Amino acid sequence: MIIILKPDSDKTSTEYTDLVAYLDNLPNITVRMHEEKGEQQRLTEFYLVGDTMPLDDAHISNFPLVERVVRVSREYRVLGRHNEDVRASYFDYNGVRFGQDEFHVFAGLCAVDTREHVEIVMRALNELGLNCTRMGAYKPRTNPYSFQGYGKDCLPYVFELAGKYDIKVIAMEITHDIHIEEISQALEQAGNPTGVMLQIGTRNTQNFELLKAVGRQRQFPVLIKRGFGITLEESLNAAEYLASEGNHNVVFCLRGMKTNMGDPHRNLVDFAHVPVVKRYTHMPVCIDPSHSVGSREAGPEGILDVMHAAAQGVIAGANMVLADFHPDSTKALVDGPQALKMNELEWFVNDLQIARDAFLARKQCHDKYNS
Ligand code: PEP
Ligand code: MN
Repeated sequence: MIIILKPDSDKTSTEYTDLVAYLDNLPNITVRMHEEKGEQQRLTEFYLVGDTMPLDDAHISNFPLVERVVRVSREYRVLGRHNEDVRASYFDYNGVRFGQDEFHVFAGLCAVDTREHVEIVMRALNELGLNCTRMGAYKPRTNPYSFQGYGKDCLPYVFELAGKYDIKVIAMEITHDIHIEEISQALEQAGNPTGVMLQIGTRNTQNFELLKAVGRQRQFPVLIKRGFGITLEESLNAAEYLASEGNHNVVFCLRGMKTNMGDPHRNLVDFAHVPVVKRYTHMPVCIDPSHSVGSREAGPEGILDVMHAAAQGVIAGANMVLADFHPDSTKALVDGPQALKMNELEWFVNDLQIARDAFLARKQCHDKYNS
Protein backbone atom coordinates (compact mmCIF):
# COMPACT_ATOMS: atom_id res chain seq x y z
CA MET A 1 0.00 0.00 0.00
CA ILE A 2 1.21 3.51 -0.78
CA ILE A 3 -0.04 6.49 1.22
CA ILE A 4 0.51 9.71 -0.69
CA LEU A 5 0.49 12.87 1.40
CA LYS A 6 -0.63 16.29 0.24
CA PRO A 7 2.28 18.23 -1.33
CA ASP A 8 4.49 20.10 1.15
CA SER A 9 2.96 18.40 4.18
CA ASP A 10 4.52 19.83 7.33
CA LYS A 11 6.53 17.13 9.11
CA THR A 12 6.51 19.07 12.38
CA SER A 13 2.71 19.30 12.51
CA THR A 14 0.62 17.22 14.94
CA GLU A 15 -1.32 15.87 11.93
CA TYR A 16 1.93 14.37 10.65
CA THR A 17 3.06 12.93 13.98
CA ASP A 18 -0.42 11.47 14.58
CA LEU A 19 -0.32 9.72 11.22
CA VAL A 20 3.21 8.37 11.77
CA ALA A 21 2.25 7.12 15.24
CA TYR A 22 -0.78 5.33 13.77
CA LEU A 23 1.30 3.70 11.00
CA ASP A 24 4.08 2.68 13.39
CA ASN A 25 1.54 0.84 15.54
CA LEU A 26 0.09 -1.27 12.74
CA PRO A 27 0.81 -4.96 13.41
CA ASN A 28 2.96 -6.93 10.91
CA ILE A 29 3.59 -3.89 8.73
CA THR A 30 6.87 -2.23 7.88
CA VAL A 31 6.64 1.44 6.96
CA ARG A 32 9.16 3.17 4.73
CA MET A 33 8.96 6.92 4.13
CA HIS A 34 10.00 8.33 0.78
CA GLU A 35 10.48 12.00 0.04
CA GLU A 36 10.91 13.61 -3.37
CA LYS A 37 12.02 17.23 -3.47
CA GLY A 38 11.00 18.79 -6.77
CA GLU A 39 11.65 22.32 -7.90
CA GLN A 40 8.16 23.42 -6.94
CA GLN A 41 7.07 21.10 -4.16
CA ARG A 42 8.06 18.38 -1.76
CA LEU A 43 6.20 15.08 -1.98
CA THR A 44 6.02 12.57 0.84
CA GLU A 45 4.88 8.97 0.47
CA PHE A 46 4.69 6.06 2.89
CA TYR A 47 5.24 2.53 1.58
CA LEU A 48 3.54 -0.12 3.72
CA VAL A 49 4.84 -3.65 3.28
CA GLY A 50 3.45 -6.73 5.02
CA ASP A 51 -0.04 -7.72 5.98
CA THR A 52 -1.90 -4.76 4.43
CA MET A 53 -5.06 -6.68 3.48
CA PRO A 54 -6.96 -5.94 6.73
CA LEU A 55 -6.23 -2.20 6.58
CA ASP A 56 -9.16 0.14 6.05
CA ASP A 57 -8.38 2.46 3.10
CA ALA A 58 -11.19 4.85 4.02
CA HIS A 59 -9.95 5.22 7.58
CA ILE A 60 -6.42 6.04 6.41
CA SER A 61 -7.75 8.45 3.77
CA ASN A 62 -9.45 10.40 6.55
CA PHE A 63 -6.17 11.50 8.12
CA PRO A 64 -5.98 15.22 7.27
CA LEU A 65 -2.60 15.07 5.47
CA VAL A 66 -3.45 12.05 3.32
CA GLU A 67 -4.20 12.84 -0.30
CA ARG A 68 -4.61 9.30 -1.58
CA VAL A 69 -4.24 5.65 -0.69
CA VAL A 70 -3.07 3.33 -3.46
CA ARG A 71 -3.36 -0.44 -3.25
CA VAL A 72 -0.36 -1.90 -5.03
CA SER A 73 -0.25 -5.15 -6.89
CA ARG A 74 2.45 -7.56 -5.76
CA GLU A 75 4.73 -6.81 -8.70
CA TYR A 76 7.04 -3.81 -8.74
CA ARG A 77 5.62 -2.13 -5.66
CA VAL A 78 7.43 1.17 -6.11
CA LEU A 79 8.07 1.42 -9.85
CA GLY A 80 4.92 -0.38 -10.98
CA ARG A 81 1.72 1.19 -12.24
CA HIS A 82 -1.14 0.42 -9.90
CA ASN A 83 -4.87 1.16 -9.96
CA GLU A 84 -5.71 4.75 -8.99
CA ASP A 85 -2.00 5.52 -9.07
CA VAL A 86 -1.55 9.19 -9.81
CA ARG A 87 2.14 9.42 -9.06
CA ALA A 88 4.09 11.35 -11.67
CA SER A 89 5.83 9.39 -14.41
CA TYR A 90 8.80 11.73 -14.52
CA PHE A 91 11.67 13.16 -12.53
CA ASP A 92 13.89 16.19 -12.96
CA TYR A 93 17.66 16.02 -12.80
CA ASN A 94 20.08 18.89 -13.34
CA GLY A 95 17.48 20.83 -15.33
CA VAL A 96 16.50 17.90 -17.56
CA ARG A 97 13.14 16.14 -17.23
CA PHE A 98 13.02 12.36 -17.73
CA GLY A 99 9.63 10.77 -18.15
CA GLN A 100 7.31 8.66 -20.21
CA ASP A 101 6.32 11.73 -22.26
CA GLU A 102 9.85 13.04 -22.79
CA PHE A 103 12.51 12.31 -25.37
CA HIS A 104 16.32 12.62 -25.12
CA VAL A 105 19.26 11.49 -27.21
CA PHE A 106 22.40 10.30 -25.37
CA ALA A 107 24.97 10.01 -28.15
CA GLY A 108 28.60 9.65 -27.11
CA LEU A 109 31.63 7.46 -26.58
CA CYS A 110 31.22 3.83 -25.58
CA ALA A 111 34.57 4.24 -23.83
CA VAL A 112 36.48 7.43 -23.13
CA ASP A 113 39.92 7.20 -24.76
CA THR A 114 41.40 10.66 -25.31
CA ARG A 115 40.55 14.18 -24.19
CA GLU A 116 40.55 15.22 -27.83
CA HIS A 117 37.84 12.66 -28.75
CA VAL A 118 35.69 13.68 -25.78
CA GLU A 119 35.95 17.29 -26.88
CA ILE A 120 35.10 16.54 -30.52
CA VAL A 121 31.97 14.64 -29.44
CA MET A 122 30.79 17.21 -26.90
CA ARG A 123 31.37 20.13 -29.26
CA ALA A 124 29.32 18.38 -31.96
CA LEU A 125 26.49 17.66 -29.51
CA ASN A 126 26.48 21.28 -28.37
CA GLU A 127 26.34 22.53 -31.97
CA LEU A 128 23.19 20.47 -32.49
CA GLY A 129 21.63 21.72 -29.25
CA LEU A 130 21.94 18.36 -27.44
CA ASN A 131 22.70 18.48 -23.71
CA CYS A 132 23.06 14.79 -22.82
CA THR A 133 25.73 12.25 -23.69
CA ARG A 134 27.18 8.85 -22.83
CA MET A 135 30.81 8.46 -21.70
CA GLY A 136 32.18 5.10 -20.54
CA ALA A 137 34.93 5.34 -17.93
CA TYR A 138 34.53 1.95 -16.22
CA LYS A 139 34.16 -0.82 -18.82
CA PRO A 140 33.07 -4.37 -17.96
CA ARG A 141 34.87 -6.54 -20.53
CA THR A 142 34.40 -10.16 -21.53
CA ASN A 143 38.16 -10.67 -21.82
CA PRO A 144 40.23 -9.83 -18.72
CA TYR A 145 43.12 -8.66 -20.93
CA SER A 146 40.97 -6.13 -22.83
CA PHE A 147 41.07 -2.42 -22.04
CA GLN A 148 39.00 -1.86 -18.86
CA GLY A 149 38.40 1.88 -19.20
CA TYR A 150 40.39 4.81 -17.83
CA GLY A 151 38.24 4.90 -14.70
CA LYS A 152 38.57 7.86 -12.37
CA ASP A 153 41.65 9.20 -14.19
CA CYS A 154 39.55 10.49 -17.10
CA LEU A 155 36.77 12.01 -15.00
CA PRO A 156 38.39 15.46 -14.44
CA TYR A 157 38.61 16.28 -18.15
CA VAL A 158 35.31 14.60 -19.03
CA PHE A 159 33.49 16.77 -16.46
CA GLU A 160 35.43 19.93 -17.32
CA LEU A 161 34.59 19.55 -21.03
CA ALA A 162 30.96 18.76 -20.23
CA GLY A 163 30.77 22.09 -18.43
CA LYS A 164 32.42 23.86 -21.36
CA TYR A 165 29.89 22.44 -23.85
CA ASP A 166 26.83 22.76 -21.62
CA ILE A 167 26.24 19.02 -21.22
CA LYS A 168 23.76 18.51 -18.38
CA VAL A 169 23.66 14.72 -18.01
CA ILE A 170 26.27 12.05 -18.79
CA ALA A 171 25.22 8.39 -18.74
CA MET A 172 28.19 6.56 -17.19
CA GLU A 173 28.35 2.89 -16.34
CA ILE A 174 29.71 1.84 -12.98
CA THR A 175 30.76 -1.68 -12.11
CA HIS A 176 31.50 -1.29 -8.40
CA ASP A 177 29.97 0.83 -5.65
CA ILE A 178 33.27 2.65 -5.03
CA HIS A 179 32.78 4.28 -8.44
CA ILE A 180 29.82 6.27 -7.05
CA GLU A 181 32.15 8.04 -4.63
CA GLU A 182 34.83 8.52 -7.29
CA ILE A 183 32.31 10.19 -9.59
CA SER A 184 30.84 12.29 -6.80
CA GLN A 185 34.30 13.52 -5.72
CA ALA A 186 35.44 14.26 -9.26
CA LEU A 187 32.26 16.24 -9.91
CA GLU A 188 32.77 18.24 -6.75
CA GLN A 189 36.42 18.92 -7.53
CA ALA A 190 35.41 20.15 -10.99
CA GLY A 191 32.80 22.47 -9.41
CA ASN A 192 29.77 20.37 -10.42
CA PRO A 193 29.74 21.54 -14.05
CA THR A 194 27.49 18.68 -15.19
CA GLY A 195 25.39 15.75 -13.94
CA VAL A 196 25.79 11.97 -14.13
CA MET A 197 23.23 9.22 -14.62
CA LEU A 198 24.75 6.05 -13.19
CA GLN A 199 24.44 3.16 -15.62
CA ILE A 200 24.03 -0.47 -14.55
CA GLY A 201 25.23 -2.58 -17.47
CA THR A 202 23.53 -5.70 -18.76
CA ARG A 203 26.18 -7.89 -17.09
CA ASN A 204 25.36 -6.39 -13.70
CA THR A 205 21.56 -6.28 -13.93
CA GLN A 206 21.33 -8.96 -11.24
CA ASN A 207 24.32 -7.85 -9.16
CA PHE A 208 22.00 -7.28 -6.23
CA GLU A 209 24.58 -5.78 -3.86
CA LEU A 210 25.56 -3.23 -6.51
CA LEU A 211 21.86 -2.48 -7.11
CA LYS A 212 21.29 -1.95 -3.39
CA ALA A 213 24.29 0.38 -3.11
CA VAL A 214 23.20 2.41 -6.14
CA GLY A 215 19.62 2.44 -4.87
CA ARG A 216 20.67 3.75 -1.46
CA GLN A 217 22.22 6.92 -2.89
CA ARG A 218 19.89 9.70 -4.03
CA GLN A 219 22.47 12.02 -5.61
CA PHE A 220 22.37 10.42 -9.08
CA PRO A 221 19.54 8.98 -11.17
CA VAL A 222 20.07 5.51 -12.60
CA LEU A 223 19.90 3.93 -16.03
CA ILE A 224 19.51 0.17 -15.70
CA LYS A 225 20.01 -2.09 -18.70
CA ARG A 226 17.86 -5.13 -19.23
CA GLY A 227 19.84 -8.30 -18.51
CA PHE A 228 20.70 -9.90 -21.86
CA GLY A 229 19.90 -13.46 -20.80
CA ILE A 230 17.03 -13.12 -18.35
CA THR A 231 13.30 -12.48 -18.62
CA LEU A 232 11.80 -9.03 -18.72
CA GLU A 233 10.18 -9.71 -15.35
CA GLU A 234 13.57 -10.50 -13.81
CA SER A 235 15.05 -7.29 -15.19
CA LEU A 236 12.12 -5.20 -13.95
CA ASN A 237 12.58 -6.73 -10.51
CA ALA A 238 16.23 -5.67 -10.71
CA ALA A 239 15.06 -2.10 -11.34
CA GLU A 240 12.72 -2.44 -8.37
CA TYR A 241 15.76 -3.25 -6.18
CA LEU A 242 17.02 0.28 -6.86
CA ALA A 243 13.67 1.81 -5.98
CA SER A 244 13.12 -0.36 -2.92
CA GLU A 245 16.33 1.09 -1.46
CA GLY A 246 15.01 4.63 -1.93
CA ASN A 247 16.10 5.83 -5.39
CA HIS A 248 13.00 6.14 -7.60
CA ASN A 249 14.74 8.07 -10.37
CA VAL A 250 15.26 5.09 -12.61
CA VAL A 251 15.27 4.75 -16.41
CA PHE A 252 14.98 1.27 -17.92
CA CYS A 253 17.04 0.46 -21.03
CA LEU A 254 16.34 -2.21 -23.63
CA ARG A 255 19.56 -3.28 -25.38
CA GLY A 256 18.80 -6.57 -27.15
CA MET A 257 18.98 -10.18 -26.00
CA LYS A 258 21.93 -12.52 -26.33
CA THR A 259 20.97 -15.32 -28.71
CA ASN A 260 22.17 -16.47 -32.10
CA MET A 261 18.58 -16.05 -33.28
CA GLY A 262 19.50 -12.39 -33.70
CA ASP A 263 22.38 -13.11 -36.12
CA PRO A 264 23.85 -11.30 -37.93
CA HIS A 265 23.07 -8.66 -35.31
CA ARG A 266 25.07 -8.78 -32.09
CA ASN A 267 21.84 -9.23 -30.10
CA LEU A 268 18.19 -9.85 -30.88
CA VAL A 269 16.53 -6.43 -30.89
CA ASP A 270 13.78 -6.33 -28.24
CA PHE A 271 12.30 -2.88 -28.77
CA ALA A 272 8.77 -4.28 -29.10
CA HIS A 273 8.95 -4.27 -25.29
CA VAL A 274 9.03 -0.44 -25.09
CA PRO A 275 5.23 -0.16 -24.57
CA VAL A 276 5.25 -3.18 -22.24
CA VAL A 277 7.69 -1.55 -19.82
CA LYS A 278 5.70 1.70 -19.99
CA ARG A 279 2.50 -0.19 -19.22
CA TYR A 280 3.90 -2.18 -16.30
CA THR A 281 5.89 0.63 -14.70
CA HIS A 282 6.33 4.38 -14.36
CA MET A 283 9.86 4.27 -15.72
CA PRO A 284 10.93 6.20 -18.79
CA VAL A 285 12.21 3.70 -21.34
CA CYS A 286 15.56 3.98 -23.10
CA ILE A 287 16.73 1.96 -26.10
CA ASP A 288 20.32 1.19 -27.05
CA PRO A 289 20.41 0.37 -30.77
CA SER A 290 24.25 0.29 -30.84
CA HIS A 291 24.69 -2.64 -28.48
CA SER A 292 21.60 -4.34 -29.94
CA VAL A 293 22.79 -4.31 -33.55
CA GLY A 294 26.55 -4.20 -33.01
CA SER A 295 27.65 -3.32 -36.54
CA ARG A 296 27.59 -0.62 -39.22
CA GLU A 297 25.79 -2.70 -41.82
CA ALA A 298 23.09 -0.95 -43.83
CA GLY A 299 19.99 -1.97 -45.77
CA PRO A 300 19.97 -1.66 -49.57
CA GLU A 301 18.37 1.78 -49.25
CA GLY A 302 21.48 3.00 -47.40
CA ILE A 303 20.00 3.27 -43.91
CA LEU A 304 22.21 1.70 -41.22
CA ASP A 305 20.63 -1.16 -39.23
CA VAL A 306 21.49 0.83 -36.05
CA MET A 307 19.33 3.69 -37.34
CA HIS A 308 16.53 1.33 -38.37
CA ALA A 309 16.51 -0.29 -34.93
CA ALA A 310 16.60 3.11 -33.21
CA ALA A 311 13.65 4.30 -35.29
CA GLN A 312 11.70 1.14 -34.40
CA GLY A 313 12.15 1.82 -30.69
CA VAL A 314 11.32 5.51 -30.98
CA ILE A 315 8.20 4.98 -33.08
CA ALA A 316 7.03 2.63 -30.32
CA GLY A 317 7.40 5.43 -27.75
CA ALA A 318 10.95 5.19 -26.37
CA ASN A 319 11.91 8.15 -24.17
CA MET A 320 15.65 8.02 -24.53
CA VAL A 321 18.21 6.72 -27.01
CA LEU A 322 21.71 5.68 -26.01
CA ALA A 323 24.04 5.48 -29.00
CA ASP A 324 27.77 4.92 -29.59
CA PHE A 325 29.60 7.55 -31.66
CA HIS A 326 33.33 7.93 -32.27
CA PRO A 327 35.42 10.52 -34.13
CA ASP A 328 37.77 7.79 -35.44
CA SER A 329 36.21 4.40 -34.84
CA THR A 330 39.21 2.46 -36.18
CA LYS A 331 41.05 3.78 -33.10
CA ALA A 332 38.19 3.17 -30.62
CA LEU A 333 39.34 0.99 -27.71
CA VAL A 334 35.88 -0.56 -27.23
CA ASP A 335 33.07 -1.37 -29.70
CA GLY A 336 34.51 0.56 -32.67
CA PRO A 337 32.69 -1.58 -35.27
CA GLN A 338 29.25 -0.39 -34.11
CA ALA A 339 30.07 3.29 -33.58
CA LEU A 340 28.45 5.91 -35.75
CA LYS A 341 30.73 8.61 -37.17
CA MET A 342 30.58 12.25 -36.20
CA ASN A 343 29.34 13.27 -39.67
CA GLU A 344 26.38 10.92 -39.04
CA LEU A 345 25.28 12.66 -35.84
CA GLU A 346 22.99 15.25 -37.45
CA TRP A 347 21.64 12.58 -39.81
CA PHE A 348 20.89 10.28 -36.84
CA VAL A 349 19.25 13.06 -34.81
CA ASN A 350 17.06 14.09 -37.77
CA ASP A 351 16.08 10.48 -38.42
CA LEU A 352 15.15 10.05 -34.73
CA GLN A 353 13.04 13.20 -34.90
CA ILE A 354 11.08 11.74 -37.83
CA ALA A 355 10.40 8.63 -35.75
CA ARG A 356 9.49 10.69 -32.66
CA ASP A 357 7.08 12.86 -34.70
CA ALA A 358 5.58 9.70 -36.17
CA PHE A 359 5.07 8.29 -32.66
CA LEU A 360 3.32 11.52 -31.56
CA ALA A 361 1.13 11.47 -34.69
CA ARG A 362 0.27 7.81 -34.04
CA LYS A 363 -0.60 8.65 -30.44
CA GLN A 364 -2.95 11.41 -31.58
CA CYS A 365 -4.59 9.08 -34.09
CA HIS A 366 -5.06 6.36 -31.47
CA ASP A 367 -6.38 8.88 -28.91
CA LYS A 368 -9.14 9.69 -31.41
CA TYR A 369 -10.21 6.06 -31.76
CA ASN A 370 -9.75 5.19 -28.09
CA SER A 371 -11.96 8.05 -26.84
C1 PEP B 1 27.54 0.06 -22.73
O1 PEP B 1 26.47 0.72 -22.82
O2 PEP B 1 28.66 0.56 -22.88
C2 PEP B 1 27.47 -1.36 -22.44
C3 PEP B 1 28.53 -2.07 -22.05
O3 PEP B 1 26.25 -1.87 -22.65
P1 PEP B 1 25.61 -3.26 -22.17
O4 PEP B 1 25.74 -3.28 -20.69
O5 PEP B 1 24.20 -3.16 -22.65
O6 PEP B 1 26.41 -4.34 -22.87
MN1 MN C 1 29.99 -0.96 -25.64
